[in-house]
Amino acid sequence: MLYYSTNKKAPTASLQEAVVKGLAPDRGLYMPQRIGRLPGNFFSEIGDLGLQEIAKTVAEAFFGEDIGKEKLDTIVAGTLNFEIPLKKVEEGIYVLELFHGPTFAFKDVGARFMARMLSHFVQERQEEVNVLVATSGDTGSAVANGFLGMEGIRVFVLYPSGKVSDMQEAQFTTLGQNIIALEVDGTFDDCQTLVKSAFMDEELNTRLKLTSANSINVARFLPQSFYYFWAYAQLVRQVQAGKTVISVPSGNLGNLTAGLFAKRMGLPVGRFIAANNRNDVFREYIQTGQYTPRASVQTIANAMDVGAPSNFDRILDLYGHVHEAITNDISSYKYSDEEISTAIKHVYLQSGYLLDPHGACAYLALKEGKKTDETGIFLATAHPAKFGETVEACTGVPVRIPDALAAFMQHKKQSLPLPNDFDRFKKKLIGQS
Ligand SMILES: *Cc1c(COP(=O)(O)O)cnc(C)c1O
Repeated sequence: MLYYSTNKKAPTASLQEAVVKGLAPDRGLYMPQRIGRLPGNFFSEIGDLGLQEIAKTVAEAFFGEDIGKEKLDTIVAGTLNFEIPLKKVEEGIYVLELFHGPTFAFKDVGARFMARMLSHFVQERQEEVNVLVATSGDTGSAVANGFLGMEGIRVFVLYPSGKVSDMQEAQFTTLGQNIIALEVDGTFDDCQTLVKSAFMDEELNTRLKLTSANSINVARFLPQSFYYFWAYAQLVRQVQAGKTVISVPSGNLGNLTAGLFAKRMGLPVGRFIAANNRNDVFREYIQTGQYTPRASVQTIANAMDVGAPSNFDRILDLYGHVHEAITNDISSYKYSDEEISTAIKHVYLQSGYLLDPHGACAYLALKEGKKTDETGIFLATAHPAKFGETVEACTGVPVRIPDALAAFMQHKKQSLPLPNDFDRFKKKLIGQS
């Protein structure tokens, strides 16, 4: 399968090129040339299939031409070795818990898949690759843990000193091996600028093979479609699934886009809801047809604090830039911190179910947008213990921290301090490689 750039000014790329490059040379996002529909009998039998079986079928549709079946099955099995349960929260409302991976956030799925696929290509090319990732918290932990111990791949995690939680910091600074944490004296935006400058720097790119591991990379965003099929499979097992709507807590829109791909492949989901916090650039686009990226503002659902969602162009491309086609499939709502906090409290009091701020935002959007004849699923993207202080402030009850999450805190932090200075960053990259 070939991949084209959403900017249409770069040559098409093989899967290997698209994964190793990350972004297309014209700064566009890679899209697969075809999105095949899965056969009808797959959907009629889906309720009897397991998570890995389903994911293997979906993975083959995207990557089967480029990676042998046995290898691909190994990549899928290595990625999805944890539970993704669908639970009933109230009548007609279900939650898909995507946070049972090693770092307790949904990004584990994409990061682990990408790490295995990139490692496969690195072995084929016999060439070392350096992954650069700027993080405000969750991406760094998922990517660092996903790539830990992968031969031929070195990961540089840039994070703003003093601006991530102790728990988040522990998840990517205590690993060692091929994971190098750079503690930047600056903000998250400074980290992102350093990474972007590195991709633009000619000397650096001739000396080192650099790639990114955020959701612009096809190997990270496409595998996120697996669990939409799995959600549906579990739903048909539990109820007569009629009309279905899925609510996605959205930031860079990678997760939502993966759901839209699943629908294009034939998944019988009626429509999607994009839940925004106060950073509602996408909701505004859905409402008005105007897209106005802007600086992000800080909220309690901070993994969704995005002012210029990187996957927006993929959604435009998927629907041929037709606003009406997009709004036929997607509606969108936004919530303030107060509304999110109140939802965490109310749901806990009413049903005993503990939401994290991101899941709570998706829950609210589902409550507001779901029609009475629809069954609704919302995605819970982070474990509530990852946002323990916020959640405890809403419910008044301390959140129990899973042992595996607490274990990260017991290891020694190893980070390299870095001034907010590109030349110093460049020296460090070259020196470490
Ligand atoms: C990254 C993240 C999101 C947003 O996902 P996108 O794919 O960027 O839209 C939502 N919730 C959590 C917990 C996240 O880490």
